[in-house]
Amino acid sequence: MVDLYIKNGKSVTGKSIEVAIEAGKITAVAEKLSVTAKKVLDLKHQSVVSAGWIDDHVHCYEKMTLYYDSPDAIGIPKGVTTVIDAGTTGAENIGDFYQLAKKSKTNVYALVNISKWGIVEQDELADLKKIKEELIHEALQQYPDFIVGIKARMSKTVVGENDVVPLELAKNIQKKNENLPLMVHIGSAPPTLDETLALMEKGDILTHCFNGKENGILDSEGRIKPFVWDAYRRGILFDIGHGTDSFNFHVAQVAKEAGLTPQTVSTDIYHRNRETGPVYDLATTLEKMRTLGYTLEELMPMVTTNPARAFHLATKGELKPDFDADMTIFNVVAGEKGLTDSNGGTRKTNELIQPIYTIVNGEVYPVGGN
Ligand SMILES: [Zn+2]
Repeated sequence: MVDLYIKNGKSVTGKSIEVAIEAGKITAVAEKLSVTAKKVLDLKHQSVVSAGWIDDHVHCYEKMTLYYDSPDAIGIPKGVTTVIDAGTTGAENIGDFYQLAKKSKTNVYALVNISKWGIVEQDELADLKKIKEELIHEALQQYPDFIVGIKARMSKTVVGENDVVPLELAKNIQKKNENLPLMVHIGSAPPTLDETLALMEKGDILTHCFNGKENGILDSEGRIKPFVWDAYRRGILFDIGHGTDSFNFHVAQVAKEAGLTPQTVSTDIYHRNRETGPVYDLATTLEKMRTLGYTLEELMPMVTTNPARAFHLATKGELKPDFDADMTIFNVVAGEKGLTDSNGGTRKTNELIQPIYTIVNGEVYPVGGN
């Protein structure tokens, strides 16, 4: 007898799918299973079963005053099983964040900001003395199951006069730790996007990839800058990181039409852009991507397998035996809704993506009034 049997579900392509779960792990996945279970969740062929959604750019250290939220406000109630906090904390306060985060029901991981206190102020990399390399190595050793990468925010408001120097230091730190993911935030120059991308390598994650700023991926004629194509082809991973200021429908549409595809869809959510928009949640960000022409089949890997691979979450992101029993079950329903990007651009959707159950570690949480 298994703990949980999810029956009569469907995949994004409409195929029948059933899943068995025991002790927090997936034990079987097939079109039809024959199992007895302590608990049965019958989806009546109405709902899509996905590997648990991973939002790889969020801010959820509650003790901050700039960008903060509670993991269980942006995770489970939003259909998100796993969040990766993108550098809210640095080596000095990530331990405290860990103590808080482990009480959450939502899975929480973190990228350690290269600045020692993280984003306590907007210009955390304006003073290079705040980059304490030895403290970062210590934190990585102390919290190996919590810290999944490092974060450097490379925009004028953050780095002050330091241009690309913080990124050079981040690359040095990364090289001393095998396979350590590095997420780089982009925004206004300096540093220019050109200089930033020149330092990035295959597997590094570029977040806020479709921002509408002058220092973004489009040139003055609205075409993708050649060095951006070069970076994309070198294997730099493009991450949405929607945020309050960093997602522009027009830029994203140009990229879609040109075939420059992001690897991961994330929100850059924190309490303010969750409560009053334009972000709201990951499902809304996915609805925005749908209006650009991405299919659900194309989008699901961007919130499951791709972020799991980018951040080496070996037992997450797939519906397969021995993987963690994290799942997002959602309905796709007809309904009109206006969607707004970070620059006031709007789109209309006729299709709503509504999570109805979030399953974390085999535990079922009904969401969305279900
Ligand atoms: Zn962010």
